[in-house]
Amino acid sequence: MTQSYDLIVIGGGSGGIAMANRAARYGAVTALVAAGPLGGTCVNAGCVPKKIFWNAAHLAGQMKMAEEYGFDAIEPRFHWEHLKQQRDAYIGRLNDRYAQGLDGNGVSLIRGHARFSGAHRIHVGDSTLEAAHILIATGGQPVWPDIPGAELGITSDGFFALESRPRCVAVVGAGYIAVELAGALHALGSDVSLVMRRRHFLNDFDPMLRESLMDAMLRQGISLLAQRQVREVEKRADGLCLHFHDGDCLGGLDSVIWAIGRRPNSADLGLELANITADPQGFIPVDAFQNTDAPGVYAVGDVTAGPALTPVAIAAGRRLADRIFGHQKERHLDTLVVPTVIFSHPPIATVGLSEAAAQEQYGEEAVKVYQTTFTPMLRAFAAEPEKTAMKLVTVGREEKVVGLHAIGDGVDEMLQGFAVALRMGATKQDLDDTIAIHPTSAEEFVTMR
Ligand code: FAD
Ligand code: NDP
Repeated sequence: MTQSYDLIVIGGGSGGIAMANRAARYGAVTALVAAGPLGGTCVNAGCVPKKIFWNAAHLAGQMKMAEEYGFDAIEPRFHWEHLKQQRDAYIGRLNDRYAQGLDGNGVSLIRGHARFSGAHRIHVGDSTLEAAHILIATGGQPVWPDIPGAELGITSDGFFALESRPRCVAVVGAGYIAVELAGALHALGSDVSLVMRRRHFLNDFDPMLRESLMDAMLRQGISLLAQRQVREVEKRADGLCLHFHDGDCLGGLDSVIWAIGRRPNSADLGLELANITADPQGFIPVDAFQNTDAPGVYAVGDVTAGPALTPVAIAAGRRLADRIFGHQKERHLDTLVVPTVIFSHPPIATVGLSEAAAQEQYGEEAVKVYQTTFTPMLRAFAAEPEKTAMKLVTVGREEKVVGLHAIGDGVDEMLQGFAVALRMGATKQDLDDTIAIHPTSAEEFVTMR
């Protein structure tokens, strides 16, 4: 028998749950098909478990600093197993909360893997479902390298499943996940090498950010192996060994973590039966309104080529529900100003254009940059204090702020409000006219010369 709905959502992650709940609240008869645990990547193998590790690593740093403030030296012992248990229990509670939320809104939750069997029809196991509107929100998965011995390593999914702390670990990659995992593991006591194929990591970000983070990581004792491409992984008596293309090798490892990007989950959806063609990377093409090429079929989140961030998936899902079921005809997501934080140690906060991107877009003449580097008061007593660096990228005579970048203690919690200012079109003068909050690091953003 075929079950009919107004909306079928494929995928129970950030984007899918957001649209399903909002659509149901508008009165749409909605089904959500979930192959994995509710909450998707963010809750189960992304933002949430990562931030818990970041918090633990941050606390380790604060405990070290306490001595500078007159506390007796403490040598805390860290119990990975305890943190993992606490984390898993917390995630379990979040999974339940998502299920209750869907239930409370009247969304039918169907467990299983969905596949299109027609333009507006899908199969889940033996069941057939149909709807006038179908959302694809199937997310992505980690990329594995195609080299001998790759399977001896793990990805971020495997990292979150580790039952004990790896003693000596190589993280291979150069993006968000590579720097976040390398930083957290080091702060929690592992011996960490970060292996990147180019000269730097975070190559798509403003250079001030990656240069400051590279300095900080080197000072902390993380080994940064630049311009190294892994050719093979070998298992030896003393652990895993990475062989590089240049003939060099790195041995004695008990864990290798691949953090070389993610790819969209679009291959086994039967897209051809819905008349949708993925792009060469597997992303589902959508317009600004999340419409795919097939009328009545939409896509949001990591399965599309937009910024792969939870709030982007959620906002796209909710706006789509507003448009389709809330009669807000023009409602759509504008991704021009997307603030993002990299939970490194120290954290990075960035929104808008890098200096180079602004020059390319507006011409060199039109761009004026304000920059500062200082020792935050928190670090006043450190022998080698970790600096905070901030940059404002402005354009035109009115000096409209088009980029704001920072690395240092607390910048992760500073960014959200500044993102509002950028979205509203703030100029340098608007920042200067704002009364500073003293003594903070954030006040530097409104006092920069
Ligand atoms: P997902 O959350 O991946 O959900 C997709 C769901 O669809 C999955 O549960 C999957 O099982 C299911 N599914 C797939 N195929 C089918 C099918 N055929 N039928 C039924 N169900 C299916 N973003 C941030 O904003 N901040 C962070 O700090 C952050 N940290 C991250 C850390 C890591 C290690 C990773 C990997 C990602 C992180 N992200 C972060 C990114 C964020 O997790 C993703 O952008 C977000 O989860 C995307 O949501 P989504 O709904 O598109 O997909
Ligand atoms: P990213 O796309 O951010 O970075 C992966 C990087 O790995 C590439 O940029 C590339 O860097 C490098 N790389 C690619 N292939 C290879 C290879 N074969 N060998 C060595 N290095 C390689 O991917 P991540 O997996 O780190 O994260 C995926 C996405 O998830 C992020 O882009 C982000 O959107 C999201 N995320 C967000 C977080 C947050 O908000 N804090 C945290 C974690 C993830 P290069 O070309 O420079 O060598």
